[in-house]
Amino acid sequence: MDQKSLFQLSYGLYIISTSAGGVDAGCVVNTLQQVTGSPPQLSVAVNKENYTGELIGRAGKFCATVLTQDVDMELVRVFGFQSSRDTDKFTGRDARRDEAGLPYLTGGMAARFRCDVSKTLDVGSHVMYVGEVREGEILSGGEVMTYAYYHQVKNGITPPKASSYQPAEEKKGWRCTVCGYVYEGDPLPGDFVCPVCGVPASKFERIA
Ligand code: FE
Repeated sequence: MDQKSLFQLSYGLYIISTSAGGVDAGCVVNTLQQVTGSPPQLSVAVNKENYTGELIGRAGKFCATVLTQDVDMELVRVFGFQSSRDTDKFTGRDARRDEAGLPYLTGGMAARFRCDVSKTLDVGSHVMYVGEVREGEILSGGEVMTYAYYHQVKNGITPPKASSYQPAEEKKGWRCTVCGYVYEGDPLPGDFVCPVCGVPASKFERIA
């Protein structure tokens, strides 16, 4: 199988969020899809190690917002590369709650949905949640951000826990174990801080 064939698939970029037991969680995904029209249902695949996925399982509902091209990349850094387990990602940002009490961001988001989980499918590294859309709202008229735009124009990278992640075998140096950023050089400076996700040098591993 040619692994590169998978790069021909196209995706959007989204933040999914939920709330259970008084704890809010949210993360960036590229795996949101509309799967049926009547009733409208969305599916999302979330890595099992991901705290947001764990809380969606508990809450039985999730919220999804569609990122626009002008979204603050700081939001992508925090929601994409930090864990809700130890970071409160919503406090201090432009956030609202939907009718089910789930938090969502409003800035840099084209639309938002709230779904009630109707089916859960274990697909190995990820769990796929299918949810019926209970709320849907346009938030801004901005151009939506595709995953290709994120990579090509925003210089975004794919974290190791994403379903579309592929290791960069050709690079040598040190790789961030949190976000996948590669420092091409040796040695890695002791005071190095990952420019993408902000973790220290101790979170890097040597590659090749
Ligand atoms: Fe990093």
